[in-house]
Amino acid sequence: MYIIPLIQTLKARKVLRLAFHDAVGYSLAGAYEGDGADGSLITFSDIELGYPANTGIDIPVNSLKPFTARYEQVSAGDLIQFAAAVGLSNCPGAPRLEFFAGRPEATKAASDGTVPSPGGNATAILDRVADAGLSAEELVFLLASHSVARASHVDSSVDASLDSTPAVFDSQFFLEVLLKGQGYPGNGSNNPFEAPSALYKEGEMRLHSDFVLARDDRTSCAWQSVVGTPSISPSGVPSAPAHTRTSDNQLLMTEGFRSSMAKLAVVGQDKSKLTDCSAAVPLPKTLCEEHFVSAAYPPSRCYGDVEQSCVAPFPIVPVASKLSFISATFPSLMPKCSTSADSDNKRSVMNVHEF
Ligand code: CA
Ligand code: CA
Repeated sequence: MYIIPLIQTLKARKVLRLAFHDAVGYSLAGAYEGDGADGSLITFSDIELGYPANTGIDIPVNSLKPFTARYEQVSAGDLIQFAAAVGLSNCPGAPRLEFFAGRPEATKAASDGTVPSPGGNATAILDRVADAGLSAEELVFLLASHSVARASHVDSSVDASLDSTPAVFDSQFFLEVLLKGQGYPGNGSNNPFEAPSALYKEGEMRLHSDFVLARDDRTSCAWQSVVGTPSISPSGVPSAPAHTRTSDNQLLMTEGFRSSMAKLAVVGQDKSKLTDCSAAVPLPKTLCEEHFVSAAYPPSRCYGDVEQSCVAPFPIVPVASKLSFISATFPSLMPKCSTSADSDNKRSVMNVHEF
């Protein structure tokens, strides 16, 4: 099954969004219909694509649909989660996600209303994901996906990234959402799904949901921990060099995202009946350390621009000499990493026959 080369042409952000929207269609309390990560967004696309929260999801759904017809042994639920794992492997700095296969086909559509609204308050968002079986901390880690995201349907006047390094899976998103907002990208209009962005002049958007979760008592410390963990000496002065701290929080973020995605991928499913096919997932591209350092203030910004809610000391963060938006606009200008990832990816294409 030569599915990986085609899936790798899909945008990681689109298949990650699809994976979340499909999986969150589940309710522990029975408030909503749906069996979670069951592929219902493909199987019952005629229903679920009509929900307002799924605007734009038709693109990855229609790209993946032909596979479900051509390979009847692959369920739609497996295909969506596999596509997310493969898509993420295109993002430098991302973790290699696990992939378990064997989800049965969906038997019903999920209800409308299962996807948390970007315009919702923190309680509404946290209550909804808790009802789907995910903790507040797991939600924070899942939002690392916004580090490689664009918002194409939030404001019709702009196709905006959510951080200044949209081509790299890094913790920059978590720092930039904490900076004081100043305006809105595009033509300056806004709607309830947006909060003022610190980098609106550069075309960056801030989702209202990210804004409130970064500042809510239940999530602010998990959010801040991704930016960095200060190492405090007895004198109260941070003692660890910046490089040590940033390396550690990149690992914290990638491990947190990997474990949270592993849980998301089986929402509503019986994992004991699934088969571990993680070997089929390509190794992600790696970060070039000489080009990317996690969590740096944009030029001319500093701690005074941070709206801190967590009571723990804020980490010392370096200041970037320039922003990296160019990496998303001109992918060919992305720094190339010299790694063994390419040859490993070829091996993964072969292994996928076993899936
Ligand atoms: Ca579903
Ligand atoms: Ca990023």
